[in-house]
Amino acid sequence: MSDPVSAEHFRRAQERFPGGVNSPVRAFRAVGGTPVFVDRAEGAYLWGADGKKYVDYVGSWGPMIVGHAHPDVVSAVQHAMTRGASYGAPTAQETDLADLIAKMVPSISMMRFTSSGTEAVMGALRVARGFTGRDLVVKFEGCYHGGADYLLVKAGSGLATFGVPTSAGVPAAIASTCTVLPYNDVTALHELFAARGSEIAAVILEPVVGNMGTVPPDRAFLDALRALTTKHGALLVFDEVMTGFRLAKGGAQERFGITPDLTTLGKIVGGGLPVGVYGGRREIMEKVSPIGPVYQAGTLSGNPLAVAAGLATLRILDGDAGFYDRLEAASAELEAVLVEASKASKVPVRVQRTGSMITPFFCEGEVRSWEDAARCDTAAFGRWHHAMLDAGVMWPPAQYEAGFVSSAHDQATLRHTAAAARAAFAAV
Ligand code: PMP
Repeated sequence: MSDPVSAEHFRRAQERFPGGVNSPVRAFRAVGGTPVFVDRAEGAYLWGADGKKYVDYVGSWGPMIVGHAHPDVVSAVQHAMTRGASYGAPTAQETDLADLIAKMVPSISMMRFTSSGTEAVMGALRVARGFTGRDLVVKFEGCYHGGADYLLVKAGSGLATFGVPTSAGVPAAIASTCTVLPYNDVTALHELFAARGSEIAAVILEPVVGNMGTVPPDRAFLDALRALTTKHGALLVFDEVMTGFRLAKGGAQERFGITPDLTTLGKIVGGGLPVGVYGGRREIMEKVSPIGPVYQAGTLSGNPLAVAAGLATLRILDGDAGFYDRLEAASAELEAVLVEASKASKVPVRVQRTGSMITPFFCEGEVRSWEDAARCDTAAFGRWHHAMLDAGVMWPPAQYEAGFVSSAHDQATLRHTAAAARAAFAAV
């Protein structure tokens, strides 16, 4: 099962890091066993510490849409590094990247760069609260928006129940500033706005959820979100940290034709280096310090290396007219391969995909909400995951995550994945 080299690295790491890792899901707790320690990555492939080669569908959890170590990105970062890693002063390249973001995602006319998606979400919701003068944030069960205290809440029973913290260390008073509703539930949304519409600063969502596995929004849900927030003076925040530049050049908002008031970006926008972005309508973003009263800052925000990696990545996406059509076609082929292979499984499997985000749910029937996703046979997923690893395919090590296709995935990786998946589903 686990390779001895990774096992030895993991033993050492567990002495220094909680669970041996610097972000929990990497520890393989959801699937059991020892995480594969990575030596290097190129294109659609990762090499483990023992030299084993894997087709990679983790893609660093989303950023690597042009594949690992793309030559344009590598040379941009190398060039930037020779000019000094960080200045703590503005550069023209930051505005170049901002111009490209605004061109690709037109709802973002003014923005702020951060160093992570978490910080981008915290900034967006702080400015939403500062702009509206209201405190309450609404999120949806199964959506993840980073590590801010008040967003680590799950739904209590019943509509408009104050959130209860999912993490220790989150004061109930802080959790109570966020209310949680079921995803895709238009009725619950109407009821909350009817009861508390004037208290709501912002509604935040993943416009396609990746963080409970891939769950697309209903059209009626998106339309209700836009209409109700507008009617009640709340801001609609699309957390496109995962979907931005992935589901279309302009993200989920382009794909669905819905314009949010604020958008958060991360992952792809940094090309694999640490970057987050929040932005949107100018009159909202003009509330941000130093021209407005909403404070937010960062020593490494707009870091030259990260900006260079982001610019190189977005230029590839923006400059290649067929990029998203080819990515869609490759992702559809992967979906077909997984659907076909899953027929060998003794437990029911439902494959869900939006664009290049894809999840095999080990359950029966459509997954539209966390309630649906919670029915999955996660032990069966774990067995499948390990069988895929044995066959040289690195799928995200948890049921409630999306697999990511990149432009580096080709017919060779597809054939390899098909053979691995047939064996893995049969082994479940
Ligand atoms: N929002 C979404 C939708 C995410 O998927 C993530 C990370 N997976 C975050 C926010 C947080 O981003 P980061 O991990 O860069 O802080």
